Order: sequence, then C-alpha cells, then structure tokens
Amino acid sequence: MSGSNRVQDGKVVLVHYRLTLDGVDEVVDSTEGDEPMAYLHGADNIVPGLERALEGLGIGETIAVTLEPGDAYGEREPDAIQEIPHDAFPDDLEIEVGMQLTAEDEDGELTPLYVRAIAEDHVVVDTNHPLAGETLRYEVTIVDIRDATESEVEHGHAHGGDGHDHHD
Ligand code: ZN
Repeated sequence: MSGSNRVQDGKVVLVHYRLTLDGVDEVVDSTEGDEPMAYLHGADNIVPGLERALEGLGIGETIAVTLEPGDAYGEREPDAIQEIPHDAFPDDLEIEVGMQLTAEDEDGELTPLYVRAIAEDHVVVDTNHPLAGETLRYEVTIVDIRDATESEVEHGHAHGGDGHDHHD
C-alpha cells in the first residue's frame, strides 16, 4: 500500500458530481444537497471515461470532463426495444416507467432492461441505458478517498461512505 491517497484501483472514492448533457444546461443527475456518492474505483461502478478521468486525483480536486457516448453509456442500439407480456414478470413486481430490471438468460448472462412504457397486455423494455447515445458532461469533486474493505472488494462495489451499508 503506497502512502499517497490518490484515486486508484481498490479505493473507495466519495464524490460530489453534477451531470449535464453536453450543450444543454439541464442537470440530469447531481449529488447537490445530498450525501456524496461512494464508488469502488477500478470495478466498473461508473462509466469508463469518468473512471479514467478521475484516476490519480486527490481529495479536494475538481474536474470537468466531456464524454462521448463510447466513453459513457454507449451508442444507442435501434433494435433494443422489446415488448414483454405482463405474465413474464414476477407477480409481486410493481413495474414503473423508468425502472431498471435485470434479465437473465439460460447461461446466467445478465442484461439490464429499462422500462420505457407499460401497455395493457405488455411492457415495453429497452436494453439501451436511458443515457445511451448522449455526450455527457460531468463536474466532479473528490470528497474523500479510503481503502476498500474486504467485502467491498469481494462484492465489486462500495458500501456507502463508511463501508458499512447493508444490502441484499
Ligand atoms: Zn455489497
């Protein structure tokens, strides 16, 4: 373990961020007025271009980066929309527009699905992330950097600011 406290693989990084679409002044997502977001660096918790941009930064540093879709949520695939009958979903699942679901195929491969619309006899889902095809602008401030706990490394994600968040 090196003595320097810089953003690198195996660190949990706490950030405040503001996400806008390039050229549009509307905030898509932000931690403003909220707790900073904690993520595990080097574990694909955040989009690849942002992870690269944050590498090596120290506490208190702020950056602004513009990311092409290939460095963010990917290009929008036109054939990614599917209609799925309601009875293909678990009975106790309350489906809402905008929610993210995960589909699992026979090989155990997981695919995220985003609910686009709900019709009487089916649900319209899209495998494109809602921000696919968009050029994104992130403004990020590094709030804190700490070593990941063993269970965070095992799970591949951060367990909150102090590493003790419980989850399923
Ligand atoms: Zn976990």
